[in-house]
This record gives sequence, structure tokens and C-alpha cells, in this order.
Amino acid sequence: MSLPFYDLKKINIEFENEINTALLSVFKSGHFILGENLKTFEHHFAEYCQSLYCLGVGNGLDALTLSLKAAGIGPGDLVALPAHTFIATALGVLATGATPYLVDIDLETYTISPSELEKANDPRIKAVIPVHLYGHPCHMDEINKIAKAKGWIVIEDNAQAHGALYKNRRTGSLGDLSATSFYPTKNLGALGDGGAITTHSKNYADAISYLRNYGQKEKYHHVSIGGNSRLDEIQAAVLDIKLKHLDQANENRNKIAQFYSNELKNVGDLILPSTAPDCKHVYHLFVIRTKHRDACQKFLQENGVSSMVHYPYPIHKHSAFLNLEWTLNAKFPAAEKACETILSLPLYPHQPEADLKKVCDTLKKFFTNI
Ligand SMILES: *Cc1c(COP(=O)(O)O)cnc(C)c1O
Repeated sequence: MSLPFYDLKKINIEFENEINTALLSVFKSGHFILGENLKTFEHHFAEYCQSLYCLGVGNGLDALTLSLKAAGIGPGDLVALPAHTFIATALGVLATGATPYLVDIDLETYTISPSELEKANDPRIKAVIPVHLYGHPCHMDEINKIAKAKGWIVIEDNAQAHGALYKNRRTGSLGDLSATSFYPTKNLGALGDGGAITTHSKNYADAISYLRNYGQKEKYHHVSIGGNSRLDEIQAAVLDIKLKHLDQANENRNKIAQFYSNELKNVGDLILPSTAPDCKHVYHLFVIRTKHRDACQKFLQENGVSSMVHYPYPIHKHSAFLNLEWTLNAKFPAAEKACETILSLPLYPHQPEADLKKVCDTLKKFFTNI
């Protein structure tokens, strides 16, 4: 049996008793949508993110889409986003009728490059989505400065960085709006789908509270063309329990990252993750780079070690988007280089130390043999 990439059973078993009690209480309450558990979790998550408002929604993709819609983004608009991210960042933009405007990344942090963003001068650009990829905050001061000068709205994609810090401020509080996901494998993961939006703006918060619930301001009074995207009571109750332990889980991730970093320095041509000054990384993923990526991944697999590639293609190379106006002739050398050389190693809270040693030993063996 292969050593797993992550083990959700191990992650969640810690909370078994608390979750059992919470689930039973929701069951007995008979109230499953937009109830007290959601209100409580929204309050706690807003506070955790150092933000004023939080609105729970159905998933991370909806969080992005509804943030953009609340900000007035729609057909004819362009939205800047990194060429290297999970596909949802681009799909959220497309769901509003707007078009992605791809920008290359900085290979140190794998986040959108401020110097490339600065060059984006198309007057149709209305917003930018910095993605705190792998758990590392984007260069937010530079991005906010550029956005301010150009009149763009800033919408963070915080799906991978719950708890990360930028100059002592939490991701999720650093833009006009922030979209996040509680997909089970995220740092704060539900027992199903879930997502949220945080913002300091009451206007945006109100708009999203209508959009997620059929555009209703009051029951059967529909003030906007909304949809149905709500974080249910069961997920909210579970997330509220896990939120209390998120900092500890992130510390745990940092310890594992430290172990990998110590063991793997000077091994082969490996490039290890780095953390920008004044940032706290929360290691949603531990991503290394090597010219020998494919052979390395194969060797790991043959030796019982799981690994993954996040993500094998930059946004403009996905077949779904080929030959569209915004991907035609697109070239983003840093994003392309990342996709060809990155490899994510197994990392999750409570990962057995023996597993970590085995990952490192197998990598060392690979590099002594090539
Ligand atoms: C997971 C993820 C999303 C989408 O979240 P879902 O809940 O799966 O819809 C968006 N952006 C990034 C960067 C993600 O990692």
C-alpha cells in the first residue's frame, strides 16, 4: 500500500466526539439552511480573518462568482488573474460573463507577479484576483497599490491559505472581497462542499446575502437575480468546531514543512518552497521543483510514495480554453516552467513521522541514482 498524499480520516477523527454532538444537535433542531449554526460560524470566521463580514456559500467556485457579481463584474469586463492557479479562479470569472486576463507568476512564491500585473493596461480590466496559492500570501501591498492606481477591485482567492499572514494581517482581509473554499482537503475543510466570502464592506455583504439566496432581501421580495448557494447548518457546525483548531493544524503543517526543508536541502536539483519576509505560510501544499519531475514522481510511486502535481497545465493550456480569444498565442514562461517542474509532497496534520522520513529517503535515493 502506498503512503497516502493526505488522510482525511486521520485529520477528522480528532474531532469525532465534538462533531457527533454537533451533528445530532442540528438533526434534532430540524433547521438545516440559514440558521444559527451558520450565523455563529460566519461571526467566528469573519473574526478569524480579521474581516467585518462573512457570508457562507455553497463552495469556493460560487464564492468567487458571487464576489465578482457583487462587485458589479459582468459581460464585457476583464478580470486579471494568475496563469498558474486552480481552474476555479478562471471559471468564476467566466460564470459572470466576464473574461479572464491572465498574468504570469513570480516563481519564488508561485503567486501573481506584481511587475507583470503593472503592465496590464487594458481599460476593460475591472478587477484582479490574487490567489494565495499553496498557502503563501500574494504580494498584497504591491497588488493593492497597482489596483488602486488603476481603479480595480481586489478579490482574494483564499481557498488555499486559511490562517496565512501577510505583515501580521490575515489573508481574507487584504482586498475588497475574499473568496474561499472549505472543500474537505483545504486547511479548514468541511465534510462536504462549502465556501465563504469575507469583506469589510456592508454593501458587498448585503449584496451577497441576497445573491446566495435567490436575490431575496426579504422572503419572496427578490431584489437581484440571485441563485442558490448556501453553506448548510451541518457544514457550518462542523467548520465552527474545526476553526478552533485551525492554528494548531497550521503549526503542525509548518513543522512538517520544516522537516522536509531540513532533510531535502542540497538534494539533487530540488528547489524548495520559500517564504517571503513578513509572511506566514500555511503549507496547504508542499511544492518542490525539479527538472526531473516526471521521472522523480514515477520513482516515488514505484517505491510506495504518493505525490501530486498542482497543476499540470497553466490556465491557458487547458483544452477547455484552447483557441479562445484570451488564450490564443498566450505565453506565460514562469507559469509554464512551474507546471513542468513542480511536484507536491504528502503533507497533512498528524502525518506520521515515519512517512515523512520515507518520503525524504526515497527522494534522496532517486537523486543519487540519476
Ligand atoms: C479549491 C479551490 C477553489 C474552488 O473551491 P471549490 O470549493 O472546490 O469550488 C478555488 N480556488 C482555489 C485556488 C482552490 O484551491
